[in-house]
Order: sequence, then C-alpha cells, then structure tokens
Amino acid sequence: MVEFVFTPPAQASVQVAGEASRFPVRRIFCVGRNYAAHAREMGKDPDREPPFFFTKPSDAVVDNGRTIPYPPETSNFHFEIELIVAIGKEGFNIPADAALDHVFGYGVGIDLTRRDLQFEARDKGRPWDWGKAFDQSAPIAPLHRVGKPFRPDAGRIWLAVNGAIKQDADLKELIWPVPDIIAILSRSMVVKPGDLIMTGTPAGVGAIVSGDKVTGGIAGLGEIDITIGEAVTAAVAA
Ligand code: MN
Repeated sequence: MVEFVFTPPAQASVQVAGEASRFPVRRIFCVGRNYAAHAREMGKDPDREPPFFFTKPSDAVVDNGRTIPYPPETSNFHFEIELIVAIGKEGFNIPADAALDHVFGYGVGIDLTRRDLQFEARDKGRPWDWGKAFDQSAPIAPLHRVGKPFRPDAGRIWLAVNGAIKQDADLKELIWPVPDIIAILSRSMVVKPGDLIMTGTPAGVGAIVSGDKVTGGIAGLGEIDITIGEAVTAAVAA
C-alpha cells in the first residue's frame, strides 16, 4: 500500500440523478466558442474552425443548490450555461459514429468565468487558466445516465439571473456536436472514465454579483440553481 506524507485530498465528484453513488471526476475539458452567436458576442468569427479546449481542475466542481463565493481578483464575473458530457469508457482516436458509446451521461453545468482575466490573457496570448480554472468555477447539476430519452443533439438550453432569462438557445445550434467533440478530443488525449466535457455556451453571457440567484436548465436534464455569495475572504471557502 502506498503511503503519503499527508492525507490525499478527497476525490472530486458530482451527483448522479436518483442515485446515492457519485460520479468521480478525473479531468474537466471545456470547449471554447461552440455557438456562433456567442462567438460573435466575444468578438470572434464563428467560422467552423476546429474546436479548441481549455481545462478546469477536477475539484472546481460544486454541487447543485450551493452558494458560491464571489471569486477574487475580478470585477466581471460571468455565467455560461453548458451541456455537460460525462465520459464512462476509455478511448483514443474514437470515430465520431462510435463516440456516444463512451458517454456515461449528461448534465447541466455552468462555466463560471472571470471574464476580465480571461480577456486580458487572451489579448496578451497567455493561458486562460486564471479566467476559467479558479476555485468552485464548475457548478454541475446531477448527471443523467444515457438510456433516458435525452439525446445531445437538440433541446432547449437556458439560463436566468434572478428569474430574468439571459441565455435561451437550442443544443442543435452547437457548431461542433457532441460526437465530433469527443472524436476530436480523443485524437489528442486518451479520454477516460471520469472525464467531463463542458461543451460551450450559447449567446447572452453576462455579469453576476453577490446575492444573485442563477438558474438554468436543459430540456430532459433538469435544472441547476446556484446563489452568488459574498467575496472570498479566507481559504476556508472551498
Ligand atoms: Mn464556456
């Protein structure tokens, strides 16, 4: 048995709808600019160039219903509602027509973003991590196993702040649909059980502040509901 110099951190995980057992999270891959209208609002051409990815640490996940502290070092904290794909089977160079065989399930998540830090990094040609990969930046509602009626190629995706709709689109608008995302990702990495993919957000992103209630959903996958708390003042926040 391996001995460690201190107790290893708990395995990051997300809930599975209707089950006591949780889905252990390995890595979180996020697709940038995967809806044309959102690419335009970010000031970019939505031409169908190959998708690009960034990542978040596995322990950025937060359960549904929680209060998330307003993160440090930003004054432009944004929501991005996204379809989450949970990988359940290992694969490399997966053909698109077999990609959905590697999916454990789907869920609703929010790619919380420090937009000011992301744009500063983007404009200076630096990594996006400080804008995207901070603590508690990935609230995710319970995953739904495949086999339910849900399919990832169509369905309303929406987000509201304090009850006012901000994002309202359809999964059929994804520039790169889920099978293509898995196929392309798996050319660069061996995808493994526990990997999550955040598939990109539709148009309408915007800023949130302390006290805001953020709700969202995807038809067939239920809803997510978080509250933005006061600013982080101590390391105990996580
Ligand atoms: Mn995103």
